[in-house]
Amino acid sequence: MKKQDSILILVLLAAAAVFFLGFRIWNRKLPEEVVVYVGDLEYARFSAGEDKELVIEGENGTNRLIVKDGKADVTEASCPDKICVRQNPISRTGETIVCMPNRVIVAIEQASQKKIRSETGG
Ligand SMILES: [Zn+2]
Repeated sequence: MKKQDSILILVLLAAAAVFFLGFRIWNRKLPEEVVVYVGDLEYARFSAGEDKELVIEGENGTNRLIVKDGKADVTEASCPDKICVRQNPISRTGETIVCMPNRVIVAIEQASQKKIRSETGG
């Protein structure tokens, strides 16, 4: 009886450890990607974790995108309104920088976006 009890405790501890580790992994921040769209097409996609400088060839001009410390920012643009330049840097999933004149969209997306969408229903 005592032996069975200790086995049961061991099993429970193991289950708790697996659950805890699984929870830790589940709870960990999912990898995010910087995605650049020009018009309706995906122009570039890369990890938000890597520092990068990119000149986006938009439909009516260029936008300079700088990714640093997980933040994406448009620092220069050829568009007349410069709204994209004035927008704050983005770092969270779902945030975007839009340049209407150049039809450029810079977005932060999660690497497993499809899964997330189906879970949240939108
Ligand atoms: Zn712009």
